[in-house]
Amino acid sequence: MEIQTQTEMKSWLSETPKCTTFRFNRLKKFDINVLHEFLYAQGKELNTNQIPKYYLLRPDCLILERWPDDVVLENTGKEVIVDALCAAAVLRGAHVFAPGVMGLPVSCQIGDRVDIYGDLEKHCKRGLKVKYEGQKQYVGVGCLKMLRSDLFDDGVQPSGIAVHTILPASKLPVVNESIYGKGEVLLQNLPSIVCGWVVDAQPNEYILDMCAAPGNKTTHLAEMSGDKAFITALDKTPSKAAKIKESCDIQGVTCVSAFAFDSTKCCSEESKGINNGPPFPPNSFDKVLLDAPCSGLGQRPQQFMNKMTPKMISSYKFVQRKLLAEAIKVLKIGGKLVYSTCTITEEENEGMIAWALEKFPCLKLVPAEPLLGGPGLPNRGLNDEQRLMVQSFGPHNDELRPVEDLYKNSIGFFIAAFVKLP
Ligand code: SAM
Repeated sequence: MEIQTQTEMKSWLSETPKCTTFRFNRLKKFDINVLHEFLYAQGKELNTNQIPKYYLLRPDCLILERWPDDVVLENTGKEVIVDALCAAAVLRGAHVFAPGVMGLPVSCQIGDRVDIYGDLEKHCKRGLKVKYEGQKQYVGVGCLKMLRSDLFDDGVQPSGIAVHTILPASKLPVVNESIYGKGEVLLQNLPSIVCGWVVDAQPNEYILDMCAAPGNKTTHLAEMSGDKAFITALDKTPSKAAKIKESCDIQGVTCVSAFAFDSTKCCSEESKGINNGPPFPPNSFDKVLLDAPCSGLGQRPQQFMNKMTPKMISSYKFVQRKLLAEAIKVLKIGGKLVYSTCTITEEENEGMIAWALEKFPCLKLVPAEPLLGGPGLPNRGLNDEQRLMVQSFGPHNDELRPVEDLYKNSIGFFIAAFVKLP
């Protein structure tokens, strides 16, 4: 067993995932020629006739690789400085949106090719005119779409694309709205797609998605059931719950009822029944997905300073425990509970599973199949048999279950599954 040192983990987190993943919405038809043409058009701007390789993984997941190494663009010497979030998005293939721009030289004109740099220390003042001398990282080349006056003049509230990314430094293809069409395809991290596969929604099942916004997993569950499951999606924040409805409309999903509701209170003996919205009576659902609010430390790339304090990171376990306890109440006996996070901390992952197994004797850990990620980490409260039943996505090498590179190269993520015993 090769134990990942903190430095190795830090270095893995600082890198961009090596491919982009899309989920096909099988309720609609996606014409693969759209992707082909989309990539050829990008190739034109890059002076190449090649396109990145892509392939299907199961019927609903498409893996898109990077541009070949010999596709390069010269630096232009004109620097645009963007904030940390924006820089990470550019590395994953996004355009630069206006609010993310911090600095732009006075001489730059619309249509100029520019080098995009991320502000590593968050010290760049908005509106900088001169070369930024702080720590910065090159994240790609793009074409300027806005002037300084559009971005920084008094009273301006900039929106829209400020720099059209042409080639991210990560060599991932640029992904933008034109590929999404009318909800036929959506961008989703590979482990999140795996999480849907683990839930394995079937027609006529009653399913609760407890923390559902913006609804990417909810719509996956609906789509895999052929829009025939009975899915309830909750999110505490009303504006976010509205997003779930929006996602369902775009993707042609009709079997979801979404509510703004605090899932730590979603079970009540006084409920008027499952069809009347939350709270629900005990033992209501065949399957429950708890994609928990978490510290999010599995997101990549993360070379830009993370401002989360150890105290903040440690605080998530309390709400996760409350949500888990409620999930168990509303799950039917014999039903399946899937717990997931997009983080890498032991206390939100393996530690949470160990806590739940000790606290709730009615819970039985079962393999979170299909098992595509690595086993749970050692010495974090789970024995080897239990470690093999969960999946942890990260850079770990573990002889208990070797993992294909594809699954090591996405984001940090964790999935566990339980059944409820009588
Ligand atoms: N499952 C979502 C998807 O795949 O699109 C992502 C969910 S995100 C990891 C966690 C969500 O939990 C956030 O949208 C947050 O608003 C919501 N949340 C946090 N506390 C909650 C609570 N007590 N009840 C319901 N939702 C909550």
